[in-house]
Amino acid sequence: MTQQAATGRRRAEAPAAQAHGLRPRDAARRGRRAAARPGPVRQLAEIAGVGQKAGVALAATGLVLTVTLPTAGTEAAMSPAVADTAQQPEVTASGEAVVAFSRTSVGSQVDPDGRLKQLLSVQSAGGVSPAQAKHTLGAPLDSMVASSPFGYRVSPLSGWAGEFHRGQDFAAQCGTAVKAAASGTVTFAGWHPYGGGNRVVIDHGNGLETTYNHLSSASVSVGQKVERGALIALSGTSGASTGCHLHFEVMVNGEVVDPNGWL
Ligand SMILES: [Zn+2]
Repeated sequence: MTQQAATGRRRAEAPAAQAHGLRPRDAARRGRRAAARPGPVRQLAEIAGVGQKAGVALAATGLVLTVTLPTAGTEAAMSPAVADTAQQPEVTASGEAVVAFSRTSVGSQVDPDGRLKQLLSVQSAGGVSPAQAKHTLGAPLDSMVASSPFGYRVSPLSGWAGEFHRGQDFAAQCGTAVKAAASGTVTFAGWHPYGGGNRVVIDHGNGLETTYNHLSSASVSVGQKVERGALIALSGTSGASTGCHLHFEVMVNGEVVDPNGWL
């Protein structure tokens, strides 16, 4: 059964988006997405229509959980009337279901955000399990050399041992290209008054945001839509910084989390 089919069914049964604590903006966006997407039966028919071989290929991309469609059942799956009978295979899935994906299944050139979009289309970022979140964001730098990690550390500025470091630092010479970790909308591009220096924030929808800090310059503005991997800024050492690097943050429902859980 397909994950699309399963999510379609869950969405159909789900109460109003507001009940999930979504912001109105996200709810509207989600509504538009849902409206633009065909229902579970139609998708089942489409996948059945391409045959079992293609179904296996889809499974390899991580889009399909299991493939159990018999070739002989294609006509039955094409008919909504038949698909709604008791013989229809179980298509519901637990919201807590952990689905293992390999790194190669992150997306395609056509839809590089595929897995992230799929995860966020059925739940808020806060409901995404660590196993699901891993590898859903792209690298903000071509060369990812981790330096200071997320969490409590000795402040490099004050020497105080109890500083909470809100992001993951990556070594990068000033002027290095900084790229969007996923597609989204720029919600902030300017001076961060609390140490981030020149900062860009991208909203990826449904409670997931990424921030890019200490930049020397930004090449995007608020409201701009960006694609995954798009050049958004050049790294720098602006704000509370001791040298050229990128301070990268991932925020889930407004709270910072360890970016390594999503990279
Ligand atoms: Zn940092």
